[in-house]
Amino acid sequence: MIYLDHNATTPLDARVLEAMLPYLTQQYGNPSSTHQHGRAARRAIDSAREQVAALVNARPEQVVFTSGGTEANHLALLGAVHDETPARLALSAIEHASVRGAAQSLERRGWRVDVIPVDEQGRVAPDIERQVHADTRLVSVMWANNETGVVQDIRAIAKRVRKCGALFHSDATQAAGKVPVDFTTSGAHCLTLAAHKLNGPKGVGALVVERTSLLKPWLAGGGQEKGLRAGTENVAGIVGFGAAAEYARRELSGRAAQWRALRDKLESGLRTLGITPFAEHAERLPNTVQFSVPQFEGETLLEKLDQAGFTLSSGSACSSGEIAPSHVLTAMGVAREHLRNVLRVSLGAGNTEADVDAFCTVLAGLIQSSRSWRRRDAIAV
Ligand code: PLP
Repeated sequence: MIYLDHNATTPLDARVLEAMLPYLTQQYGNPSSTHQHGRAARRAIDSAREQVAALVNARPEQVVFTSGGTEANHLALLGAVHDETPARLALSAIEHASVRGAAQSLERRGWRVDVIPVDEQGRVAPDIERQVHADTRLVSVMWANNETGVVQDIRAIAKRVRKCGALFHSDATQAAGKVPVDFTTSGAHCLTLAAHKLNGPKGVGALVVERTSLLKPWLAGGGQEKGLRAGTENVAGIVGFGAAAEYARRELSGRAAQWRALRDKLESGLRTLGITPFAEHAERLPNTVQFSVPQFEGETLLEKLDQAGFTLSSGSACSSGEIAPSHVLTAMGVAREHLRNVLRVSLGAGNTEADVDAFCTVLAGLIQSSRSWRRRDAIAV
């Protein structure tokens, strides 16, 4: 199998597993305990906090560990609710389901949600002030999109949001480890991260917060994470996140250059098949290409690629067995015929030129054979 779905999740780096193992075996202390076992776990968390902070140029005390990107997004949005008076929230039209889900729960509590449109390249409109009102508490715009890979100009957006007096959150789950993410200079008040997108373990993430006093806890009780996220810490997971962040920071430029070269090769292979990537003129993550294959005359392209040994996804949400058109592509105004047979290739550790060549060859073959089935069917009719 050739794995081309690294934006969905990544394999655990063997070095990260090694760093985690002691905390799954002998070092089982509760970091809140004051005895030696507890203190060892606390030290491990403290050093992971430094490693995660260093990846995004934040201060360690700004890192709040969570159970992943989804929870960090909920903490950012629901944590902005300081009282029961409903206010407003603004989100870009291309946010991940976890941001949209948190916004929907605020809507059920009487909040108004304004949607910030994107252009045909998936970039957030520069005149963001139009969606930011006097009672807008928080604006959320993702750093990089999980489907198209489009990277937003977060500094410019944050500057405009700050001028309007609202809090600014950015979901950097897909950006961290793929492009430089600098929390301090970005101007964001809070930033979401998830370990499993950068060869760390699943079930652990963080919200980086300018000042913890900006938010209210969503999970309260135990006082952990400076009172912002109660619950005994996932020590092994946090240690793994720290190690993964450290390797991602050190190896970022090498990894990105390697992915970019593979992506360019893939895109030139696709162009020879008459396929153009979505958002080709926007700045994109170096590992991501999303495109549609209208040349394939059927609806089972992803299944056929899976049978041929390629693991990838469409980027479309699948609900009740039906493939719904992607909200991201719809927001970009992509034409109807390009909303079917959508594929997203997301490259990562272990992918090679041979993988890209094999993918292009198999895709060309599938397009060719779908046309001959179609011709045979037409003759039979
Ligand atoms: N935000 C983005 C942009 C994502 O791509 C994902 C994962 O797919 C998440 C949030 C959710 O992260 P997690 O799986 O850690 O909850």
